[in-house]
Amino acid sequence: LFITFEGNDGSGKTTISKMAYEKLLDMGYPVVYTREPGGIDIAEQIRHVILDPKNTAMDARCEALLYAASRRQHLVEKVLPALAKHQIVLCDRFVDSSLVYQGIARGIGIEEVYKINEFAIEGHLPDATIFLHVDLHTGLSRIETRGEKDRLDNESMKFHQMVSEGYDTIREMFHERMHVIDATKSIEDVLKATIECLLEIINA
Ligand code: C5P
Ligand code: MG
Repeated sequence: LFITFEGNDGSGKTTISKMAYEKLLDMGYPVVYTREPGGIDIAEQIRHVILDPKNTAMDARCEALLYAASRRQHLVEKVLPALAKHQIVLCDRFVDSSLVYQGIARGIGIEEVYKINEFAIEGHLPDATIFLHVDLHTGLSRIETRGEKDRLDNESMKFHQMVSEGYDTIREMFHERMHVIDATKSIEDVLKATIECLLEIINA
């Protein structure tokens, strides 16, 4: 099973997915935790190029291609081998993030970004996606309290708004695999709902 975590910035993807992983591991499930670029050397190098602040001239389609390239390497080197061993892969962000950030927020268009990602993932879409749902303001204020205000300032308010609306679109587009969790609640409550949801998916 390939299960991804998505949601606005500040929705708790990293925190909740790691805690859920620990819990499932304790329960004896054969679970693997990863996130793009997943510690894969080639994928890390590509990510480094994307995030280098010197690369202010980076074109949006170039960025989308690099994310897709990095995703490809991480999929082939880490995700697919784990799935081949019948492990349950939990991944913090995947293709939906590109549809939202590059497709919608950067304005390339969902269809265009989907095309290059189809090439990159060859049909390996997630079996299920845990969607941690928070409104824009809850997400942004969490990032502010985390002391990551630079991360907010690197992009305009309009960008963050488009990410939030973009996630609404993607959630509806792929509703069959989306498991929406109210992530405005406390970590304990969100974790509990996430574990319940994961166990349902695993034992289905
Ligand atoms: O996964 P994480 O929250 O650490 O990602 C950091 C930032 O990378 C996000 O806030 C987002 O701006 C950016 N990102 C992106 N396109 C993606 C994935 C992440 O622009 N496909
Ligand atoms: Mg995160």
